[in-house]
Amino acid sequence: MQSIISVLPDHIANQIAAGEVIQRPASVVKELVENAIDAGAEKIQVHIKDAGKTLIQVIDDGKGMNVKDAELCFLRHATSKIHSADDLFALQTKGFRGEALASIAAIAHVILQTRQEGTDTGTRVLVEGSQVIEQEEVVCDKGTSFEVKNLFYNVPARRNFLKSNDVEFRHIKDEFERIALAHPNIHLILTHNGTEVYNLRSVVLRKRIVDIIGDRQNERLVPIHEETTIVRVSGYVVKPEYAKKTRGEQFLFVNNRYFRDGYFNNAVNRAFEGLIQPKTYPGYFLYFEIDPAKIDVNVHPTKTEIKFEEDKYIYSILISSIRQALGKYNIAPTLDFER
Ligand code: ADP
Ligand code: MG
Repeated sequence: MQSIISVLPDHIANQIAAGEVIQRPASVVKELVENAIDAGAEKIQVHIKDAGKTLIQVIDDGKGMNVKDAELCFLRHATSKIHSADDLFALQTKGFRGEALASIAAIAHVILQTRQEGTDTGTRVLVEGSQVIEQEEVVCDKGTSFEVKNLFYNVPARRNFLKSNDVEFRHIKDEFERIALAHPNIHLILTHNGTEVYNLRSVVLRKRIVDIIGDRQNERLVPIHEETTIVRVSGYVVKPEYAKKTRGEQFLFVNNRYFRDGYFNNAVNRAFEGLIQPKTYPGYFLYFEIDPAKIDVNVHPTKTEIKFEEDKYIYSILISSIRQALGKYNIAPTLDFER
């Protein structure tokens, strides 16, 4: 009998993988900005047109790529960030899967322009549907610019599934804010249809938080600090009396990476128990620093889910450090709310 199995060509494999990595324009923003951070950028500009449906451009002043890498970067599993499986246990970078650019290039029109320091000219590469259409030498700034146009042009189901511009831009803004909170030392700019939405200069963490949630909030922040051999927890919680009816201001970061975690969220809720009204949510901006060997980032392609070896320990540290901090600010004595 004839065999019936064939290996899918790269451009189809890329398009399938893209379904997981790139869910909407905001995913493109996340991936490109994370790459810029990994490239050591000090300033990153994000320019959006029509909520990213028409254009997403990310410009950085990072280390740039040489001619060859400017073409290789669009291949699947092409990465400069890990070289062996062991490197997975010592991750210092946001990326490592070598999938994002291959995915984006499979479902959009992409123009890359990049130049490394110390070289006179850079490279411009045009990619459509995973194919390099054009590559030329150009004069450009040091660093890298990615323009992503016509996202999902060849995936009509996805394109139709996109929400209104307001909703899609809200997702972009959320992604941008998470990155901004994780990297207060980077100058970050966001524009939408030519209007500046954010221009966040490099600052200390507290100022960056206030830049995002509003000046009035400054006095509401209570600093958290706890250091053990396993984890360093720092950041801020919002005073209990300012707990909100929505979960908007709840942020967890590990090694400068935003993540979601119901279990740790529950720890924070427990620390606030008796201090806040039922059906309100405490605000928090909590940063863990932990040995990368003790976490697994490779749970999902978008990397917002993380496994912790010492989760139970961190859970209790979280409760005690928040309670202690709230106590210091004399708000520990319980206010008795009817239940
Ligand atoms: P990953 O980030 O997992 O390595 P990507 O597909 O996102 O995979 O990027 C592939 C490679 O392209 C990166 O490893 C990096 O070497 C290079 N690259 C991507 N974006 C940039 C950038 N803004 N500046 C310099 N190099 C970049
Ligand atoms: Mg990447």
